[in-house]
Amino acid sequence: MRRKLIAGNWKMNTDRASAVALAKGIVGGVDKYKAVDLLVCPPAVYLTFVAEVVRGTSVALGAQNMYHEGNGAFTGELSAAMLKDVGCSHVILGHSERRHILGETDAAVNKKTLAALAAGLVPIVCVGELLAEREANKTAAVIRSQFEGSLAGVSAEQIEKVVIAYEPVWAIGTGKVATPQQAEEVHADLRKLLTERYNGQSAAKVRILYGGSVKASNAGELLAQPNIDGALVGGASLKADEFLGIAAGAVG
Ligand code: PEP
Repeated sequence: MRRKLIAGNWKMNTDRASAVALAKGIVGGVDKYKAVDLLVCPPAVYLTFVAEVVRGTSVALGAQNMYHEGNGAFTGELSAAMLKDVGCSHVILGHSERRHILGETDAAVNKKTLAALAAGLVPIVCVGELLAEREANKTAAVIRSQFEGSLAGVSAEQIEKVVIAYEPVWAIGTGKVATPQQAEEVHADLRKLLTERYNGQSAAKVRILYGGSVKASNAGELLAQPNIDGALVGGASLKADEFLGIAAGAVG
């Protein structure tokens, strides 16, 4: 049985005070949602402040990106070990904003995924098609190619620790949420890809999150789908009540 995971991607939002206040708001309401895993991913500069708030609680801490090298002359980058050092257990990799705005490739996401796993961080590997790709019936092919490229060289043992996030690019930050059927179709395809590449037992353990305009009012029906194991939430994760409302949707 896969536990649901609700992850908040705060992106380049908040300041120090509001990040701490948001984390406190979430921590203050978690008691009702013990059956769900909760994760917050603040901007990197606020990780240490948010870590103070979530330490000793059931809310986990994640980063929004990392670099694959361990250390050295990589100005502006952060390693997996640095993220672990400040209390992160998870890292979002290959988010569509990094792929499409910052030019991150599957090969780069793959190196980061392997480095995160080697360091003991849980990578949340994002995949998702553009609107034009969906309209051209290329969704399955795009997802397969991102899956293969981003997860190359990941062993059957390692894959069980990976979280995959299906985030259709046309649904991110647009208010246009995928229907539960559209999302479930891709999640079921991803589960099939996992089974083909690994085996049924490992595939059954991998959590596949949906992301794209999830909010408290639409979370319930998305999270009721058999292959939707949680949500990666952008805008709605910036309000503690709304984020906890999504967790409520996961409890059912
Ligand atoms: C995201 O950025 O991962 C995301 C899903 O954003 P939003 O919830 O705002 O669509």
